[in-house]
Amino acid sequence: MASFLTDNDDLLYYLNEGVDWTALAEVTEYGWRTPDGFKNGADAKQFYREVAEMMGELVAEQLAPRAAKIDREGTHLENGEAVESPSMVQAFDAIRQADMHKLCIPRELGGLNAPLLLYFLCGEMVARADLACMNHFSFHGGMAMAALAYSVNEGTTTFDMKAGRISSTRFADEIGEIARGEAWGCMDITEPNAGSDMAALLTRAEQDDKGDWFITGQKIFITSGHGKYHFVIARTEAVKDPNDPFAGLNGLSMFFVKTYDDLPDGTRKRYVTLERIEEKLGHHGAVTAALSFERAPGRLIGKRGEGFKYMLVLMNNARVGVGFESIGLAEAATRMAKAYAEERRSMGKVIARHEMLADYLDEMRTDVQAMRALGVAGAFHEEMSRKLELIGKFLEGASAEETERIKRELPKHRALARRLTPLLKYLATEKAVEIARRNMQIHGGVGYTKEYGAEKLLRDSLVLPVYEGTSQIQSLMAMKDTILGIIKRPQAFVTRMGQARWRSVSARDPLERRVAKLQVLSMSAQQFLLTRTAAGKLKTLGDVPVAKWREVITGDWDPKRDFALAMLHAERLTRILVDEAVAEILLDQAKVHPHRREVLERWLARAELRSRALHEEITTTGDRILAQLSDTAGAQSAAAE
Ligand SMILES: Cc1cc2nc3c(=O)[nH]c(=O)nc-3n(C[C@H](O)[C@H](O)[C@H](O)COP(=O)(O)OP(=O)(O)OC[C@H]3O[C@@H](n4cnc5c(N)ncnc54)[C@H](O)[C@@H]3O)c2cc1C
Repeated sequence: MASFLTDNDDLLYYLNEGVDWTALAEVTEYGWRTPDGFKNGADAKQFYREVAEMMGELVAEQLAPRAAKIDREGTHLENGEAVESPSMVQAFDAIRQADMHKLCIPRELGGLNAPLLLYFLCGEMVARADLACMNHFSFHGGMAMAALAYSVNEGTTTFDMKAGRISSTRFADEIGEIARGEAWGCMDITEPNAGSDMAALLTRAEQDDKGDWFITGQKIFITSGHGKYHFVIARTEAVKDPNDPFAGLNGLSMFFVKTYDDLPDGTRKRYVTLERIEEKLGHHGAVTAALSFERAPGRLIGKRGEGFKYMLVLMNNARVGVGFESIGLAEAATRMAKAYAEERRSMGKVIARHEMLADYLDEMRTDVQAMRALGVAGAFHEEMSRKLELIGKFLEGASAEETERIKRELPKHRALARRLTPLLKYLATEKAVEIARRNMQIHGGVGYTKEYGAEKLLRDSLVLPVYEGTSQIQSLMAMKDTILGIIKRPQAFVTRMGQARWRSVSARDPLERRVAKLQVLSMSAQQFLLTRTAAGKLKTLGDVPVAKWREVITGDWDPKRDFALAMLHAERLTRILVDEAVAEILLDQAKVHPHRREVLERWLARAELRSRALHEEITTTGDRILAQLSDTAGAQSAAAE
């Protein structure tokens, strides 16, 4: 039987040895306290492996063969309701019958209580079969977990940690419905005039005399927007300072909105109107909806004004999810390219034996492995940090040793999750496009036809760097976190730089020396941008004691002006940060599993050259564009006067 798990050695590595599943199982089973849960890592791991095997077969046998049809059939609107492709409906019947929507939902809410990382790895296999399926799949379990996370955050979930279970939670009924595959949810943020710029959102929510909330406005591009449940961001407070472009973020609130009620007389009462289904370039099987809300009843989540905060609660997991979508698509494109190149002949040999194409195929394979390494590490740390935080917050009667361990481990996981997630979203989505494009090129003329499906992969891939925060927004976040991190703890940066320099010449393992050199290069680029950022205030940071950097740099701080060069180079810096982060992760793997050294070597061979070129660009270019921008800004303000 075909399987998208057992035919994939790199994926099997993570199932078998590349992940500390015992640590994940322990936090998922609330420190082995769940009454009907696993009591040790070995049993849990065995179950996770069985689930992955089942999913690998289901995806290969039931989803992948339907992908082309799902794409052709598409979706449309009929009498105000979305009509999905019949093949998509069949694919989702298979997923539901296999109980896969339950995967990561806690047992007491009707789920299987598996780690989110397993859910993401299964999602990767779904995406390898079809991106539209993966899109819609993630708006089931992912939205149930969002509802739970929101409820925990606002304080409407109670735990009995001694008994290892949730006692009550606000959205228990809806989560149960989703677990059974009877409903799904969606996330409604984007509006016609506000995408990356959330401060500009206009949809508003008003309260009546009884205190009930009603939402009015328009949302666009809503994936799986034909769902029963919506998390909607709406404005509840007026913008206080119209001159501050970020002021609008404070006036947003998060609402839970039900699309419709099915009435006893068999009719359906709708509160949200499906205006249209967007006609897109790719993933035609997924519904992307434009919606209108006309005094739709909503339930406030958290407090008013906390909408942006609540969006951030989910952001990391959502971006990790898109990372795995991208890995699945890139895996499919790489395999398609290899299979074709090993068969197609040109000038006396198969095209895979032509030097340039052999180089392409090698890079594609290495990049997919790098994306998966970053994805697994990012997802692992995100899940560990969320679950340790939960246990730490709700656990009563923990031993001093357990409390101490949580205190020690939590900040480490939190910092790594924060660092790796934008890098994953950036790398995986950009590479998915590049790899899909190469796959099409390797197919020559037939790549441009529908015969092999190479064009579908390229069409599908192009949305990945756009949704859940564009690549440019990820780059800005990664750059700001990095630079502000140095400003906050300059001494730690100087120490890290010194240690990396030392390791780059003294480490016994030549691969460790090469990774350290990459770290030095990365920190040198960071230092350059920081020094240039501070240059407006002082000639050189060299005259200022390290302990005073923070004070000097942050005094009179204007992120628009002071970050200008770093913003211009944010994407280049992000690409160096990615090269460095992947190298570190692969080195950690190689230290424990020597067979991974070969993957690290392949990655370093390309990353070293790339990072050097990026460093050169960062340190020698950009001033001309900044001068142009300040000339135009000057001219505009003179004209305004
Ligand atoms: C198929 C699809 C599904 C989607 N699903 C959902 C969904 O389920 N829910 C939802 O709420 N939204 C969804 N979206 C919307 C998506 O999240 C937005 O399109 C995305 O955030 C970008 O916003 P925008 O389209 O308004 O582009 P803009 O924000 O106008 O950006 C245009 C360009 O400018 C760049 N840019 C913007 N600001 C800056 C800056 N400060 N510095 C540098 N560059 C900048 C962007 O990176 C981009 O390249 C979906 C979109 C698509 C296409």
